[in-house]
Amino acid sequence: MTVMQKQQEKHTPKPQKFRVYGPVATVYGSSNTGSWRILCPKVDYEACIKCGTCARSCPANIIDIIKEQSECVVIDFDYCKGCGICANECPVKCISMVVERG
Ligand code: SF4
Ligand code: SF4
Repeated sequence: MTVMQKQQEKHTPKPQKFRVYGPVATVYGSSNTGSWRILCPKVDYEACIKCGTCARSCPANIIDIIKEQSECVVIDFDYCKGCGICANECPVKCISMVVERG
């Protein structure tokens, strides 16, 4: 490898790894939406019937349903956009969108 090639390699940024979540996800680091989301889904676990509709309808694919635990709807808030689709689709309306920052 020539000196010039070594210098080029040294100054070329290394490729970064990104988590890709579903069809609306992007490869940009800014897909971490936790810093700018305004509304945040809040689940009423007493009313939740663990149907999984929210997980299937979330465009970012960041909801896991873990039926064995009492707080069964696990949302990755680093990537939640606060779009409210999960709240709209929930058949028993046990997800409410709460203001996270004004
Ligand atoms: S608010 Fe939108 S992005 Fe966040 S969990 Fe619900 S459907 Fe997914
Ligand atoms: S859609 Fe509603 S009832 Fe179904 S798992 Fe999600 S929060 Fe629970």
